[in-house]
Amino acid sequence: KVRVRFAPSPTGGLHLGGVRTALFNYLFARKNNGTFVLRVEDTDQNRFVEGAEEYIVNCLNWCGITPDESPANPGNYGPYRQSERKPSYRKFAEQLISDGYAYYAFDTPEELDAKRKDIPNFQYGQATRMEMRNSLTLTISEVEDLLAAKTPHVIRIKVPENEIVHFNDLIRGDVSFETSLVDDKVLLKADGMPTYHLAVVVDDKAMEITHAFRGEEWLPSAPTHILLWKYLGWESDMPAWAHLPLILKPDGHGKLSKRDGDRLGFPVYAMNWTDPKTGDTTNGFKEMGFLPEAFVNMLALLGWNDGTDQELFSLKELEEKFSIDRISKAGAKFDFEKAKWYNHEWIKTQSAERLAPSVRAELQKAGIEVSDDKFLNTIIDLIKDRCNLLPDFVAQSGYFFISPKEYDVASVKPKWTVEKAEFFNAFSETLSLNDAASAEEAFKALAAEKGFKPGELMLPFRIMLVGGKFGPGVFDIAILLGVEETKNRISKAIE
Ligand code: GLU
Repeated sequence: KVRVRFAPSPTGGLHLGGVRTALFNYLFARKNNGTFVLRVEDTDQNRFVEGAEEYIVNCLNWCGITPDESPANPGNYGPYRQSERKPSYRKFAEQLISDGYAYYAFDTPEELDAKRKDIPNFQYGQATRMEMRNSLTLTISEVEDLLAAKTPHVIRIKVPENEIVHFNDLIRGDVSFETSLVDDKVLLKADGMPTYHLAVVVDDKAMEITHAFRGEEWLPSAPTHILLWKYLGWESDMPAWAHLPLILKPDGHGKLSKRDGDRLGFPVYAMNWTDPKTGDTTNGFKEMGFLPEAFVNMLALLGWNDGTDQELFSLKELEEKFSIDRISKAGAKFDFEKAKWYNHEWIKTQSAERLAPSVRAELQKAGIEVSDDKFLNTIIDLIKDRCNLLPDFVAQSGYFFISPKEYDVASVKPKWTVEKAEFFNAFSETLSLNDAASAEEAFKALAAEKGFKPGELMLPFRIMLVGGKFGPGVFDIAILLGVEETKNRISKAIE
């Protein structure tokens, strides 16, 4: 039975790489009738940030990829926060010591700092461990005394010398590491909390995780984890590994970071995140005006495709089509223009009813209250294929609710207020707006009578109604505005 986990640390906003990891876990679970677990990895008290867990849960819900088991909705493998599992880890660290795979280390922070100063790129490991104060260098009774005196200490893994650690990654195939390059990572900290490395192994075992999808940045930690699975005697229960390709900056050079978003003006977080300490808010895709369907679709295609050139997929379709062998090894370039394209494609095909609550909220933010649902729906259908982001609905439809405050006069030459006022007065007097085609016919006939080419008047008319050179058919707009409002706008514009 497939069980996968998304295991974020609650340290702040959720980067789109994190959401993609969650998504691939979710899709793999759905595809295989498995279970998608959310496990909160909060053992690092220094990095813990208030509100981050709730935020992560909200992001997953917004994306429609709600976990089957989580702190809020526990299954039979709880607790789902590592801090609440604290008592379960020490015994495994101690078991590793008695089996010779780990050791106590009593070095003080000052001693470690001094070493780091002495030796450039100091690593606590096979080359240095015999110079340090630990249970490999102290006598048994010295160690017993130090422990009895409750001397602060950590427990470190004892990485073997000259071995190659191999494992099969579902995306990368055979991956191997030389242990000479792997340090003796801390497993249990002085405060009794496990580090991520011990906790992730103990919990993946306890929660019966079958497949571990995570970002490629965790690949260097893999040898430590593989050794722990082996040393704890659990090798046959080890999950299959899948390290997901990095999400790259738009230019392809290096990993996409929050700073790139700030610099280039696009979000990298799923939703707005406000740092509780500084009060600073980082923008998210949701608030920028993305539909969750489009965001999820875009993420799925960062490093995966179905083998055809299809780009638009609903979550349901992804659940059916997702497969590990279509995940690429190469990093996936993030392209904000492309992200907007996905959103545009999704907006365009949604019903007015589906879009209405979001559009109404955007209009509200701009100070426009809409009372007539039918009118709003008609307008949404008329302009939705002109919108990339939800706030575009305001720019594209605000004039239906508020007459233009400014006119883009520069677009119309010669100046329309003076030259063509007479035509518009006459047109206004006889204005009838039963249907767009006959209104246009009347407009053209009158233009001819007055000696104008209709083309010279069409743009001025549009600018009178909407203020600028945009929008759907001008007679469609006039019909929606109604005779009275159209007349008002004409007279206001030419006065
Ligand atoms: N807690 C790790 C993180 O913050 C999880 C890595 C893993 O999935 O093993 O991403």
